[in-house]
Amino acid sequence: MNIILLGPPGAGKGTQAKRLEQLYGLKQISTGDMLRAEVAAGTPIGQEAKAIMERGEFLPDPIMVKMIQGRIAQPDCAQGFILDGFPRTESQAEALDAMLGTDGLKIDAVILLDVAEDQLVERIASRTAEDGTRRPDDNPEVVRSRLDIYRRQTAPILPYYEKAGRLKHVDGMLGVDEVGAEIDALIGKTAKN
Ligand code: AMP
Repeated sequence: MNIILLGPPGAGKGTQAKRLEQLYGLKQISTGDMLRAEVAAGTPIGQEAKAIMERGEFLPDPIMVKMIQGRIAQPDCAQGFILDGFPRTESQAEALDAMLGTDGLKIDAVILLDVAEDQLVERIASRTAEDGTRRPDDNPEVVRSRLDIYRRQTAPILPYYEKAGRLKHVDGMLGVDEVGAEIDALIGKTAKN
């Protein structure tokens, strides 16, 4: 079972990915996390990635495709994987389909956690007002700027899956358990707690 999880920051991707890891043994793969680890370790890719990431640009598609190809071949992905942050361009999406096809694999579900931008900002603001906790990235301006980055960097991949009828929408404003249940239904699994 291989999944692509899409959605703006704050939509609950991380929470849902963790749930899928725990229940079904899937492995979450975040290309952003992988690149940050390469930067921290000072590897050749990390050295190239640092400046590109600081400029808010994309790494070249061939580098990203190779990185994903190596990652999904690891034993911890044997039960399947959840991609987060990849693909981000149509060329990456095509390369992904092609590489999986060669191995007799495929993406089983492309799931978009839908969240209306205004509701998201409101939800975060009301959480802050209610319990008095404020995370550094909770203020409306930061939320808006992260959403702007999402619109520029991730949303452009949506039409690739939409036009092929592969994109499944889940209402990300529902509770964590309800979103989990909807995802289960989409991937044909039932959680046994
Ligand atoms: P993220 O944490 O997913 O927002 O990724 C952080 C940064 O890593 C992005 O702004 C890009 O510079 C780079 N990056 C992550 N994933 C990709 C990708 N699939 N293709 C190109 N660059 C990427």
